[in-house]
Amino acid sequence: MPSENLFALIRAAVSDPAKPFLETPEGRKWSYGDLFAETARIAHALRGYGVEPGDRVAVQVEKSPDAIALYLACLRAGAVFLPLNTAYTLAELEYFLGDAEPRLFVVRPDAEAAAKTLAAKVGVAHVATLGQHADGSLIEAAKGKPADFEDVARKKDDLAAILYTSGTTGRSKGAMLSHDNLYSNSHSLVDYWRFTAKDVLIHALPIFHTHGLFVATNVTLLAGGRMIFLSKFDPDLIMKVMPEATAMMGVPTFYTRLLQHPGLTKEATAHMRLFISGSAPLLAETHREWSAKTGHAILERYGMTETNMNTSNPYDGDRVPGTVGFPLPGVEIRVADPETGKLLGTDEIGMIEVKGRNVFGGYWRMPEKTKAEFRPDGFFITGDLGKIDGRGYVHIVGRGKDLIITGGFNVYPKEVESELDALPGVVESAVIGLAHKDFGEGVTAVIVPEKGAKLDEAEILKTLEARLAKFKLPKRVLFMEDLPRNTMGKVQKNLLREQFKGLYE
Ligand code: AMP
Repeated sequence: MPSENLFALIRAAVSDPAKPFLETPEGRKWSYGDLFAETARIAHALRGYGVEPGDRVAVQVEKSPDAIALYLACLRAGAVFLPLNTAYTLAELEYFLGDAEPRLFVVRPDAEAAAKTLAAKVGVAHVATLGQHADGSLIEAAKGKPADFEDVARKKDDLAAILYTSGTTGRSKGAMLSHDNLYSNSHSLVDYWRFTAKDVLIHALPIFHTHGLFVATNVTLLAGGRMIFLSKFDPDLIMKVMPEATAMMGVPTFYTRLLQHPGLTKEATAHMRLFISGSAPLLAETHREWSAKTGHAILERYGMTETNMNTSNPYDGDRVPGTVGFPLPGVEIRVADPETGKLLGTDEIGMIEVKGRNVFGGYWRMPEKTKAEFRPDGFFITGDLGKIDGRGYVHIVGRGKDLIITGGFNVYPKEVESELDALPGVVESAVIGLAHKDFGEGVTAVIVPEKGAKLDEAEILKTLEARLAKFKLPKRVLFMEDLPRNTMGKVQKNLLREQFKGLYE
């Protein structure tokens, strides 16, 4: 049987190794042939560190082309790639390393000493370094190694990567992703989004997360396309490279920030084929403003670390603002009562559940947690609440844990947020539940006003009275300059709940 190693499948998809794969504004350029040679050399280096098939390689480094090569080298060596958010502190790393027991820990050159101390403490055998400019001991170890490597044969279900979830409730869990989870999903996205070897993708996402690592990178690789690889999101730089690009993948904040850029016009984006958004909800307002300014309808899709991508708005046909589109081919989506699991009908809000080749095998060393998050018939319980409308579009109304229960009634924050966002002078809003002695939880609105706008709590509440049932009305409206967001653009409601706790006590 031929190998089902994701790397082998990527290599088979690339017809011409001379074709460019990646370039950076700093002047680095790699063809596919360069990429394959570099991944071979690093795969040999991994062997040198004693990395065997199935071993984990934990990686906490800055974004660079070499970090992508390291990811692919792990696939080639049959190792399990384990990227870690660059923001994690030493105390957090201790948990991840202790849990994952990697053979090798790759860190930034300036973190080497601390990483070695930590590695000795938790029993990780080797530490290597990788800098942003093709520097570090890993690159040294790879130098002079053969540009060919006999890829380790992998089967569909063999692990390719472990990605830890962000863990806003309780411990972070390691989602185990197989070669086939990654391959099948990227393969359908290439088709669904019509990526070809002619595409040039602006890649400005972090690569420790599913969006930048798997969606952006694997889709480009399987299509044989090219990436303009930016070390971080920078609106000026994006506008500068845009004339060369055909597509961009971003989180909603990319779009709201670019909308403020004077260079964003119909002309500047005329040759772009596709703008994709995901990882957090894109405001319908942002979608509309983007269309008005550029003539492009942003294509919004929905996915998560555990499942890769689940749904997407269509390439042809209506990209409906505020929805995440249809289930991708081969992905089954249903909405069920969160308590009983009973299936719900059109437009009924409940738990989104998903099944397909895209869905992960379980949480690393957490069989009980894994069992609790799957239904007996194999559907994964996403934790996202939503509905499917009459046309089959999926709508996300928020994370289950953000649901507010007030006086026994369920309030879906998104419904209240949409009303608030539509008010003049409101940039955006977040609606949270805070402990309340009478109601259990009190609906609380946090609003970001436009610069110079004079907003008044009482007036806002009065306007909402005509639009929302009484139990959904915020008990208080608070104002903030910015909402707290993580690197993927998600509003951190847990931080808001923490900041305003005690408001009703
Ligand atoms: P992560 O595992 O970090 O990718 O986070 C996954 C979560 O992000 C999902 O469970 C959703 O709650 C949220 N998410 C991703 N894409 C979207 C989207 N297009 N609209 C709303 N929420 C999204």
